[in-house]
Amino acid sequence: MPMDLRETRRILERHGIQLKKSLGQNFLVDSSVPRRTAEAAVPEPGFGVLEIGPGAGALTASLAERAEKVVAIELDPRMLPVLSETLADFNNVEIVEGDALKLDIPGIVGSRLGGLRLAAAANLPYYVTTPLVERLLETRLFERVCVMVQREVARRMVAEAGSDDYGAFSVYCRYYAEPKILFGVSAGCFLPPPKVESSVVLFKCRNAPPDGIESAEEERDFFRLTRAAFSERRKKLSGLAAREFGAAKETVERELEEMGLRPDVRGERLSLEEFISLEKRLTG
Ligand code: SAM
Repeated sequence: MPMDLRETRRILERHGIQLKKSLGQNFLVDSSVPRRTAEAAVPEPGFGVLEIGPGAGALTASLAERAEKVVAIELDPRMLPVLSETLADFNNVEIVEGDALKLDIPGIVGSRLGGLRLAAAANLPYYVTTPLVERLLETRLFERVCVMVQREVARRMVAEAGSDDYGAFSVYCRYYAEPKILFGVSAGCFLPPPKVESSVVLFKCRNAPPDGIESAEEERDFFRLTRAAFSERRKKLSGLAAREFGAAKETVERELEEMGLRPDVRGERLSLEEFISLEKRLTG
């Protein structure tokens, strides 16, 4: 059943549900957005999908049409009877009630989607976008993570070194995946329309840390470096890195020069590979 505006209103009314802003409940009422998101998350047969926040099931239905199985985690128990109705035609959807920030995601995926190639998809509640994306990426379970987020957040996720939107979170996203903005979604595609514009981002995930990161300790030092590098945007990288790693500023400047960078460079100029190289030089 397509979840257009009339149908979504009707079913929510029938169940006596008022959508809650506090849960980020802006539901998709445009059929092309769920279809395109599902096509990106599940490009071919053989996938099991974890969905976060199915709401009334608009995206869930599109995912279920393409995937072998969909497991969807929903925090709001009022949505469960709605989902039973809207997803009645599918026998490959399982709803798990709970908080996706707290539930054991590897456990759920292992027990319910075992043996399948894995993807995650969500039209995320904006107030938990960053921690949820981090949880999904850090499991390293998913080949693809396809999420709808606020447009500004999407720009930060995919930003390249040197651009205005580039920051620690951009480096973080590239560390785990190849992120790409697929398309924009206007506020009119939702009930109720949010105050912000949205974008759908696809992460094609790495199945291991990027080249050069060989241990958990190196990973920790890499993130120490990137967090320090962006902690004070006006300051030069040499001073910030020296402070974080207890090194002399001149030592960091020399390493930067040896890497072909200016000694007074700022963190926002360095790519993922350059941060990895600097981390190795400072801790090796
Ligand atoms: N996927 C639906 C759609 O596109 O129409 C609903 C999207 S709505 C933006 C976000 C959904 O996530 C809501 O149904 C909300 O109740 C649910 N949600 C909010 N916080 C959650 C959490 N921590 N864990 C699981 N679901 C959550």
